Order: sequence, then structure tokens, then C-alpha cells
Amino acid sequence: MTFLKTIDEKHFHQSIPPKPMGKYAHIVTCRITESYPLFQTDGALNTARVRAGKRRSDPITRLVIFKRKQSSPERLAGRELLRNYGLVSMSSDDGDKKKKGKAAKGAEYGECDYNVSFCQRCADCILYGFAIGDSGSEKSKVVVDTAYSITPFEDSHIKLTLNAPFEDGTMSRGGETTSRINSQDHVIPQVFFPSIVTIKDPTQAGFLYVMNNLLRTKHYGAQTTRTGRVRNLVLGAVLADGEITSNLRLTQAVYDLLSDREQISAPDPIQEEHVVAALSESLPALLEDDGVVYDLVIGERFDSLMKEARALTQDEAGLKALLSKVNDEANEYARTYVETAS
Ligand SMILES: [Zn+2]
Repeated sequence: MTFLKTIDEKHFHQSIPPKPMGKYAHIVTCRITESYPLFQTDGALNTARVRAGKRRSDPITRLVIFKRKQSSPERLAGRELLRNYGLVSMSSDDGDKKKKGKAAKGAEYGECDYNVSFCQRCADCILYGFAIGDSGSEKSKVVVDTAYSITPFEDSHIKLTLNAPFEDGTMSRGGETTSRINSQDHVIPQVFFPSIVTIKDPTQAGFLYVMNNLLRTKHYGAQTTRTGRVRNLVLGAVLADGEITSNLRLTQAVYDLLSDREQISAPDPIQEEHVVAALSESLPALLEDDGVVYDLVIGERFDSLMKEARALTQDEAGLKALLSKVNDEANEYARTYVETAS
């Protein structure tokens, strides 16, 4: 089944191969915060001390989003859809056993419980991978790398104090002041994190599945917060025969260009148009350094690709066909190559 016309079919496999075959689809995105997310470990925002640019050598501290913090919400978005269209029975952690049993009955095989008992055969398990102790694992075919903020930590976060007042709205009762006050660093809105999502040896359906997950995922960061709104701006694709530049190098190249053009003026946010222009202009030179054979799909050609993708994923029948296809491919792969532990 052919879903896409804008990208040469030679960049995709007809079925998921068992061994690395040297086809890579890289989706170039920029993750843009739209509220106050928390990308943190042990209560502190994650940061890294790195060189500011490729050319600019001064060190700066950048916010970072580790890979799991990017990929987990995306795969959950995909799992939600597989479940919604009845392709996979996935138990929820609501503890409703009756519901669970019903769902399992409706599926062709056992339920898939994220991080608890992976079914080892659905599109999510096969594409994003799983590990079940010693009894089996599947390497992820979707690869993301740590993402870095373009702007420095100092200009990209704020300390917010969250109060938990008593019912009458005050912070004290009977002469005692509540200790329910939490002070915490948050990432501020309109901070930009360039990030490349790679699909190894993709089929068309696999590529579109991952793209769709990217477009649909709108919250990232600590699960306890409802403020982690993030938008994925997808601006290009690179079909290549190998790995390409890291997120850090891409971010540094973009930082150089924005600085040259005096488009970074803290504490004001950077303009999205400026970031898009800098990203698009940085890519060709970085790809030349990578020493790979590549097809860079950007600008008008990428717009047509997105048009094709959206026509499928925003149409119920189209989306169902796509999800069925990607799930069938995963099932076929599992039947042929995965030794299930059961
Ligand atoms: Zn599964």
C-alpha cells in the first residue's frame, strides 16, 4: 500500500526488516514550550553546560529534555489511537478488572500494558521497543536524542511558588501558617528545543505513524503537572543512508545564526520565524559534514508531504487504514522474528 507520493518509495521498506538495512528517516522538529513544563530529575530542572555555538565558543548552561521525556508521551499518543480503533487491547491502570477482561476478549491476543507487560507484537512494541527483564527485548526503531534549549537556562526558566491555601483562600488557620507552599523552577513559554526524531528502516506506514504521534503529542514533562504544554513544529525530513547531526550541533548552529542576526535579545523570547529560518538554513551544511547520502525534504516539498500526511491522519477512514497497516506490519514482524517469552 502506498500512502505517500512526495517521497521516493526507495526510501522505505515494504515490510519491517529483521536486520539494520541502512535506511533512515529523520524528522526535523522544534519543540516549543507553550506553558510552564518541568523537565526535571529529583526536583531540579535538567541542564547541561555546553559550548554556545559551533563558532561561538563561550560556554552556556542550557535546559535539556532527555530522550525518554520526549519519546514516552509520543508513544502513549500512538497507543491511545491503537486502542481507540480497537487494534490492540491495552489495559489501563484504572484497576477496573471487568473492563480489562472485556477488552482482552475483544483482542486477537493478550493485552499490552505499557511498562508492565508488553504484548511484544503491536505497532507500539515493535516500533518503539520493549525490554522484559531477561525474557526478551526489542530494540527501538524510533530514536531520539537529548534536546537542548537554544537560549540559556538563565533566560529560559522562572521560579514559581505554588500555594495550597485553606478552603477560605487564606494561608493561615488558627494562627498557624500552612506549610503547603512549594517553590519550583519551571521552564517558561516560548523556549525552543530543536530535536530530530529518527526512524530506522521505516515503512511508509511506520514513518507516518511516528509523524502522527509527534503532531498529536501536546504535553511533555513531569506527569504530575498539567502545565507541560509543548507544540511540535515539524519542519523537514531527511531520508538518508545513515545517522545525521546531533541535536546539540543543530542547536549550536542555529544559535550562531540567530546571534549573527542579532535575533536573540533576552529576556524577550526569540521569534518563531527566526528559529525556523535558522534551522532550515543550518541543515544543508550540517548534512554535508555528516558524510551520508541524503534527500532533504524542506520548504514547499515538505509542505506537500505534510498535506499528504494530514489528509490521511485527519480522516477517520484514512487513519484507520494507516493504523491497521502499521499494526499488521508489526504483527508480521513479531510472528517472523520475535521470540516471544511466554
Ligand atoms: Zn504491545
